[in-house]
Amino acid sequence: MTHRAINFYAGPAGLPLPALERAQAELLDFAGTGMSVMEVSHRSKEYDAVHEEAIALTRELMGLPANYKVLLLQGGAHLSFGMIPLNLLRGGRKADYIVTGNWAEKATKEARLVGGDNVRVAASTKEQKFSRLPFASEIKIGADSSFVHFTSNNTVEGTQWHEFPQANVPLVCDMSSDFMWRPFDVSPFGLIYGGAQKNLGPSGVTLTIIREDFLETCEAQDLPSYLRYKLHAEKNSLYNTPPTFGIYILRNVLAYNKSLGGLKAIEANNREKGRLLYGCMDKHPDFFRGFVTEKAHRSLMNVDFFLPTPELDDLFVKEAKKADMVGLKGYRDIGGIRVSTYNAVTVDNVKTLVEFMEQFVKANG
Ligand SMILES: *Cc1c(COP(=O)(O)O)cnc(C)c1O
Repeated sequence: MTHRAINFYAGPAGLPLPALERAQAELLDFAGTGMSVMEVSHRSKEYDAVHEEAIALTRELMGLPANYKVLLLQGGAHLSFGMIPLNLLRGGRKADYIVTGNWAEKATKEARLVGGDNVRVAASTKEQKFSRLPFASEIKIGADSSFVHFTSNNTVEGTQWHEFPQANVPLVCDMSSDFMWRPFDVSPFGLIYGGAQKNLGPSGVTLTIIREDFLETCEAQDLPSYLRYKLHAEKNSLYNTPPTFGIYILRNVLAYNKSLGGLKAIEANNREKGRLLYGCMDKHPDFFRGFVTEKAHRSLMNVDFFLPTPELDDLFVKEAKKADMVGLKGYRDIGGIRVSTYNAVTVDNVKTLVEFMEQFVKANG
């Protein structure tokens, strides 16, 4: 059997094995073409079927109403940080950004390059080192706002919005690290975007979902073509050459997710993983000290904790590696341990880690 590590990397991250095996089986002869999917035209009927299926599966899994468009773009969340203000914030329009972590801060900085002071901070937990989300009472949204931007899962800090912020204007959300981890009502959202490489596929695809009335408010004519959301929507994400192989893998992942029972089943797995992992931390709170201060804000995608000393953190990572568990070193600015438990991480993978944690406490606690 091929060696497969237990992968807790934060991104790019593990993919479901059946999605990779399907790619392996189809690699040399895709859809009877005698070529791999990487080698065929993005205008061919064989590729087109994959493109359409990736979009249809996104619609189906997320239960998207007909007034939402699915776009398959490039440039990661980083390019979206710029495209959003370019399309939606020029001409004196204003927006409110909720700053809850490293990525939210970056999104705000990029938006300010376009919108200047019209990009307002609705709330920030920087003073708390982003160890929690803002409470509803701390969030100030202007009545003149075009949208509220937030980051649904803070990949670095390990917080997650289990209840989305309330606003009377459209929400715009970076879902890079928790896209499709559960079903939710999309109707308050004008735009959702995220790089695929955490929960959905390989790097190179930026899944973007945009509500039609919100799309209508996008400016376009004076922007370079690639930066226009309207153009991508009109061309069904085939204006330029899309990242065909990435979209193909995305299709495989989504088809596999559907076979599991869709987002409800995936949510149940994710909740069980969280119960196991946080259960172990809460059993040994002085040994596995969580970074996040509010239990209600704990992420089910990225779990940050510190052992009693940095030396023990290092030993933990080293010993875990010997047991074939990789990707556990904390983000450089925070240190400690970060366990990323995206959709492709199984309940069994987390059980293995929790058993290891219990043994580690016994040996070193
Ligand atoms: C990883 C990540 C990003 C950066 O994604 P790129 O694809 O590298 O641009 C942005 N936001 C969040 C929440 C992330 O987890």
